[in-house]
Amino acid sequence: MGEFNGFVHRQKMAEAHLEEAGAVLEGHFVYAAEDHGNAYVAKDETIKRPEILARITWLMAANLAETLDPDDIDMLGAAAPCGSIIAARMSEHLEGMWGKTPGLVFAEKVPKIAIDEATGEPKIEEELKLKRNFDQEIIGKRIHIVEDVVNSGMTVLQLKDLFGSFRGVEVVGASAEYSRTPSAVNAETLGVSPWLPLVEKELTKTKPQDCDMCEDLEQFPIRTDRGHGAKFLAELAVWDAALKA
Ligand SMILES: [Zn+2]
Repeated sequence: MGEFNGFVHRQKMAEAHLEEAGAVLEGHFVYAAEDHGNAYVAKDETIKRPEILARITWLMAANLAETLDPDDIDMLGAAAPCGSIIAARMSEHLEGMWGKTPGLVFAEKVPKIAIDEATGEPKIEEELKLKRNFDQEIIGKRIHIVEDVVNSGMTVLQLKDLFGSFRGVEVVGASAEYSRTPSAVNAETLGVSPWLPLVEKELTKTKPQDCDMCEDLEQFPIRTDRGHGAKFLAELAVWDAALKA
């Protein structure tokens, strides 16, 4: 018998919960970076099912409690809305494991004006900011980041920079519900330790020109209910019309 590994065991349990929530979808998807692939992690499906989210966040809390001591952390820090819901549930579970519930801080997306590099025109972008007096309350605190689904790791990096820009704040690791690009996203690339993804699973992706499913759209229609499939199909239609003209 191999040695019992709590992290591996909890990943297996989490995968079953995610499947029950219908959070891992199969089909022909277009991702944010225009890549195509045959699976999609729908983070909002677990948020919609509080009884399943309770189990998933319990597992995330257990990974954290096994790695760090209650004295190592003052607050859990996340991005609203999904990350902050997960962090709040984790904090509740830590009461039972640590006898302490870390505080909660969350950043919110606010619009900012940026210059479009291609056109030189101004455009609206979003950035993460602290509201609700959090900018005062986090001073000097040790914050553990909590994320939902990690693709590029961009949100974790943004949260790390944001929290770290306040006086005396120390970022002490990060947890995630699901890391779908473990080959590219790890403690080293994120610059956070410990890095605790509950589920780590590489989902394959290909460039549209190399996508086998695109060869047979009748059999593998592009899903437009998630990801960027609708936009991709609209662009495809414009190309088709241009070619026929
Ligand atoms: Zn495709």
